[in-house]
Amino acid sequence: MDIRTGIGHDTHRVTAGRPLILGGVAFESDVGLEGHSDADCLLHALCDALLGAVGAGDIGEHFPDNDPRYRGAASSIFVTRAHEIVRERGYTLSNVDCIVFAERPRLGERKRAICESIERILGLPAGRVGVKAKSGEGVGSIGRGEAIAALVTVLVTKELPA
Ligand code: MG
Repeated sequence: MDIRTGIGHDTHRVTAGRPLILGGVAFESDVGLEGHSDADCLLHALCDALLGAVGAGDIGEHFPDNDPRYRGAASSIFVTRAHEIVRERGYTLSNVDCIVFAERPRLGERKRAICESIERILGLPAGRVGVKAKSGEGVGSIGRGEAIAALVTVLVTKELPA
């Protein structure tokens, strides 16, 4: 068995007049995240973790942020493609673990919705996606509410010929 991990991280600036979407879930909020696509930093980090696990580069190489095709795009399309690349290389995604770093919103009861959204995007059964939330404790750009960040790890496996 070939077992590999991947890690992804992303940060987006908080700004007025933009949607706030995390893990494919839209939040009611007077501020959102700046970015070329829908700026879903959690799905961007997930995309990088998937690509990293199979040595397939990063999100910027596959989906350049100056490509007009991706303006306002739902970031689930990046994750879906990255997952396809994982499978094309013979690997099966085992699990995903995520941390969202945000002073606001407090994710609270929406963690379950984010979890289910990621399970749906990846076609994973329940119990294979973890979502945790950390506030910035008032410290740094996260704590001051200037940015939201996400950290994601994945594990992928491939059966090797006997
Ligand atoms: Mg990003």
